[in-house]
Amino acid sequence: MVKSFERLSRRDFLKFCGGAAAALGLSELFTAEMIAEALESAAKKPPLIWLEGQDCAGCTISLISVENPGPASLILDKISIRYHETIMAASGHMAEKVREETIKEGGYVLVVEGAIPSADDRFCMVGGRPFREIAIETAKNAAAIIGVGACSAFGGIPRGTPTKGVPLSKVLPGKAIINLPTCPVHMDHLMGTIVYFLVTHKAPRLDKLGRPLMYFGMSVHDNCRRRGHFDEEEFLTDWNDPKQRDWCLLEKGCKGPEAYADCSIRRWNNGINFCIDAGAPCQGCSEPGFYDEYSPLYAMGPVTDRILAKKAAGLIPRKENT
Ligand code: SF4
Repeated sequence: MVKSFERLSRRDFLKFCGGAAAALGLSELFTAEMIAEALESAAKKPPLIWLEGQDCAGCTISLISVENPGPASLILDKISIRYHETIMAASGHMAEKVREETIKEGGYVLVVEGAIPSADDRFCMVGGRPFREIAIETAKNAAAIIGVGACSAFGGIPRGTPTKGVPLSKVLPGKAIINLPTCPVHMDHLMGTIVYFLVTHKAPRLDKLGRPLMYFGMSVHDNCRRRGHFDEEEFLTDWNDPKQRDWCLLEKGCKGPEAYADCSIRRWNNGINFCIDAGAPCQGCSEPGFYDEYSPLYAMGPVTDRILAKKAAGLIPRKENT
């Protein structure tokens, strides 16, 4: 999957580490040398277990779609993915044995994709066992636990179904969990968080919802290029009117002023685009309200009323005043 970086010269490797630091938003925190040392100093590749509960495998698709060579592929080359249901070659008892041995060794990074059903364990069984049990067992000796995607972080789409999916934090009370919501997870967020952990052996600074501030410390609205139109109350109502083409998508259901994530500056698909620039309103997939409380996703609703009320009260200042 990933091109090996083993044969790079030291100079080129450092160059890659410097590029990775910049791309992952870590250049103000770490030098290229610090990242290179963390990636090279482990006697063996840091192990990672990736579990999938109630998911659509969208976060997995993010993982296997990383550009190679690129900053994320550099990190992937330096870690050992021991267990991942979708991409591992092994299956059945052989695969479970690897997971059990990795748990015994300890010191691994645990990544969990998907929610956990609270209505009945039978909604999500793996190998004949409730996924809930597997998540608890696998978290036991993890050095870091990361919930990826909206479902694992906050319940996401499964929360609004009869399964009553709950976030990872609900089945691992008292455990420190780093939440990386958005639907799917952004690979820069995951790789940057892993690098941060490998360099410092700690979690990055988190907000009150367990999200790293370096990626979730700003709203989508803060840097949206339609922001001026929001300030002028020019809200797009007619997709076919060329005059309205770049207007604010609030009346089409945009949740950007309530959504905390760096999508509008980091963008997606290797920095090519993101929802709003592609003409789709932000659905707030970085927030606990996504998606049931944020419905309707593509029309005005209670969230729009709330945003308009905040705007009227001066709680969403004009761009030039921020
Ligand atoms: Fe952009 Fe949405 Fe804010 Fe409008 S409401 S400026 S489309 S983020």
